[in-house]
Amino acid sequence: MSGSRLAGLELVRVSLPLAEPWDSGAGSFAVRDSLLVRAVVHGLGSDGRAAVAEGWGECPALPAPTYNSEYTAGAVAVSSTFLVPALLRAQPASWAQAASAMAAVRGHSMAKTAFEMALVDAWLRLEGDGVPMARYLARQASTEPRRTVPAGVAVGLCRDLGKLLAQVGDYVDAGYGRVKLKIEPGHDVAPLRAVRERWPHLVLFADANGAYAAGGVEGAFEQLCGLQELDLACLEQPLADDDLVGHSALARKLAVPVCLDEALSSVGALDAALQMGACSVVNIKAGRFGGYHEALRAYRACRAKGARIWCGGMVETGIGRAANLALAALSGFDLAGDISASGRFFAEDIAGPFPLLPGGTIAVPDGPGLGAQIYTEVIDRHCAWRKWWAT
Ligand code: MG
Repeated sequence: MSGSRLAGLELVRVSLPLAEPWDSGAGSFAVRDSLLVRAVVHGLGSDGRAAVAEGWGECPALPAPTYNSEYTAGAVAVSSTFLVPALLRAQPASWAQAASAMAAVRGHSMAKTAFEMALVDAWLRLEGDGVPMARYLARQASTEPRRTVPAGVAVGLCRDLGKLLAQVGDYVDAGYGRVKLKIEPGHDVAPLRAVRERWPHLVLFADANGAYAAGGVEGAFEQLCGLQELDLACLEQPLADDDLVGHSALARKLAVPVCLDEALSSVGALDAALQMGACSVVNIKAGRFGGYHEALRAYRACRAKGARIWCGGMVETGIGRAANLALAALSGFDLAGDISASGRFFAEDIAGPFPLLPGGTIAVPDGPGLGAQIYTEVIDRHCAWRKWWAT
């Protein structure tokens, strides 16, 4: 925002124990090792007097490079060495200026996302009486933000069918109306069929995280054609990250809507995928595209091509989840995404609260910026490393 000055940036690395270990084809871990960014901005408040705002951001990269090439320690390195100095030098007053300051660094979309989130959070807190992030994003998409979004839960790989059904049953009982099962060869049609038989009306997704790449289109079709009778909302990323041609062929052959996640590492890749018919459903994950402004571009591209969209998750803490709620509040996110209530992943979260409301929804924060309460004492307790840079 004009007239503001970036006073400093802090990197905070936290190790947050999960309520239960997470297991998927894109990584397994029991502790969420996450990089947070705290931005301190000086500016003018609504009364014209000097004001200071603090913004928080979260890098959604996983602890190890098992989802994409980014990982927490790598994000700490690129942030400390390149992104923090570039931003402090540039003194950005708008997101476009921040993006331009970070543009010399290729890739590292998830690390850049954390800085975008922290700066936007701080700027929105200084603007007027404070603008909620959901309203800010909706303003740019010429729409009104929804007040609540449908919640969804992603269930990790579970090779014990009885245990899996008990887990899904707990989520259904809690009020979730959409469940996504992680699948891999040998653990796909049977568990999904069992869940479908037990809960005929549940909105059901399957996510393969590229696990069928080895067999190519024919192999994937052979292993997954049994899904066609299970009324799935979508099958996510069955083939390799770079296999748009294969996904396009599979999408023509398989009577289940194909959704892409890992393959869409940029808006350019999304445009190509939509053009080729490689997917009819898109998982919009801001961190994968390079931030929430890039996610807005992806949103517009999907709307123009009539692709169905939903907001993906990366086992984020409440900080990342607050930003995802703001994004998912845009009209058009009509499939429930990976946004779960506070207790889904962490026994003790660092921001919130996000309770599950009746009807299986979560309220979109309507306070300034991210709008979530940041539990700094919990951050301090789980902090593994932190460093502050002043301008
Ligand atoms: Mg996925």
